[in-house]
Amino acid sequence: MTQLFVRTLRDAPADAEVPSHRLLVRAGYVRRAAPGIYSWLPLGLAVLGKVEKIVREEMNAIGAQEVRFPALLPREPYEATNRWTEYGPNLFRLQDRRGNDLLLGPTHEEMFALLVKDLFSSYKDLPTTLYQIQTKYRDEARPRAGILRGREFVMKDSYSFDVTDEGLEVSYRNHRDAYIRIFDRLGLEYVIVHADSGAMGGSASEEFLAVTPIGEDTFVRSPGGYAANVEAVTTVVPPAQPLDGLPESHVEDTPGTPTIETLVAHLNETFPRDDRPWSAADTLKNVLVLLRHPDGTTEPLAIGVPGDREVDAKRLETQVSPAEVEPFDDAQFARHPGLVKGYIGPGALGTASSTGIRYLLDPRVVPGTRWVTGANAPGRHVIDLVAGRDFTADGTIEAAEVRAGDPAPDGSGPLELARGMEMGHIFQLGRKYADALGLQVQGEDGKLATVTMGSYGVGVSRAVAAVVESSHDDLGIIWPKELAPYEVHVVLAGKDEATAAGAEQVVADLESAGIEVLFDDRPKVSPGVKFKDAELLGMPTIVVVGRGYVDGVVEVKDRATGERSDVAVGELVEHLRAG
Ligand code: ATP
Ligand code: MG
Repeated sequence: MTQLFVRTLRDAPADAEVPSHRLLVRAGYVRRAAPGIYSWLPLGLAVLGKVEKIVREEMNAIGAQEVRFPALLPREPYEATNRWTEYGPNLFRLQDRRGNDLLLGPTHEEMFALLVKDLFSSYKDLPTTLYQIQTKYRDEARPRAGILRGREFVMKDSYSFDVTDEGLEVSYRNHRDAYIRIFDRLGLEYVIVHADSGAMGGSASEEFLAVTPIGEDTFVRSPGGYAANVEAVTTVVPPAQPLDGLPESHVEDTPGTPTIETLVAHLNETFPRDDRPWSAADTLKNVLVLLRHPDGTTEPLAIGVPGDREVDAKRLETQVSPAEVEPFDDAQFARHPGLVKGYIGPGALGTASSTGIRYLLDPRVVPGTRWVTGANAPGRHVIDLVAGRDFTADGTIEAAEVRAGDPAPDGSGPLELARGMEMGHIFQLGRKYADALGLQVQGEDGKLATVTMGSYGVGVSRAVAAVVESSHDDLGIIWPKELAPYEVHVVLAGKDEATAAGAEQVVADLESAGIEVLFDDRPKVSPGVKFKDAELLGMPTIVVVGRGYVDGVVEVKDRATGERSDVAVGELVEHLRAG
């Protein structure tokens, strides 16, 4: 500790909201260089290296081969797949002295596909899987929580190349199994969920989420084993109802009903139903947003959802990606005088061909369902407006919030919601990128065949923080053995020379037994301060060499359980091995 480049801090950085951020900075593992950009100090780099080692071992074990691409990349490949545009403001772009456009790689599908295209030409060359552990750049809108969501971060990205769909299935399976081993070894509590493939396109895709209350992802699970990212949940659609025999729609004055609650109260008072009271689920709420497409153009979008549900921003973003969602503000309303704010109904929306506004409905709004909704006049609503009879839309959209108790799409029971953080993501990309980049090989039949790809990521730097999130207490970090920068933290807790020499000997013995040791040899620091630092830094085992040493005894403390025991110096190595 007298040599190590580390300073522990009493106070957490002002911007730190989550334990891992506070602890990793306070314990001197990382240091902020700019928002969302961090430097790794010796202890942090050691942990990062151990995560990399686990990832590397498991990737090598499935036959993936390591390469390393530059982070500074040319524009053209990303132009060919349209991602130069689609990435929008998330991409770090720059120019060289000749005015050529370059980017800092956010992910490398294009580069790997082009490399394989360069060097391979026959089905006999495939399958192959390549990977790298490399720094990625994304100008995240909301960098947060230290290294959990950085603008520069370390990712393991791998890419599989197959000729057949069955081959891709196998490559995908192999990765899935490798990821299970990786996240087991990291000691994380995680779930594997169905994911939306989002901007990547392609079909099958799953995410590995660390279960944590600070996670930005919401996922659902059912008693029968269904698990999905909330973005990927599909609504269980009720059957369409027959249209005949339904009452005519009628427009009514509904003064003082600016909210769904006031509207429902008014309906029950003034237009009571015979069968049951009105509820928010009987109303149809129409929400307007503005979509901004990657090329900068904008488009209004109207979304109709049952009034007892909100539009879920993340589900909506996933559905409209790569477009971004912006609020539909007063200036927009001014541009569409037919829309009466607060009383917008399907009558004013119709379909895009009639109004210029695309109108998408929640899948629950099936033909024959009856709704109370805006009548496009201030203070007026229409009752018994029947879907499929009185109004239609341009399609459906999965944008309404998912709620606890909603049925799982596969019939496996009611859903429960929880928070998670994405640690890994596996995709069957299919032929999208290979098509765009002309990645073909000679097939067995002599004809050219387009290669099918998989793409697989692990958040390596994020994993360091995720482990701290799941393994810490009020005093500091608690590293699992496989990730700790050092296995044992030896604290010298005595001023006399004999104890100091004894501590040196203990360290030497442990090191010669192949145990990595951090030695707190600071001469003028009190034992109390040393213990506090040892707890903050989080090595799994703390060995105190103090008063008992003259009797040949040291104290061994388990950082995780707090258990202490006196151990004879001669038995220390054996004791640690057994533990
Ligand atoms: P997120 O939904 O968290 O933004 P993503 O879906 O954009 O992640 P991928 O493109 O699938 O991420 O990247 C693969 C992995 O890289 C993710 O599973 C995650 O662990 C990690 N990762 C992504 N973005 C960041 C970031 N800004 N900082 C740290 N790690 C990240
Ligand atoms: Mg992802």
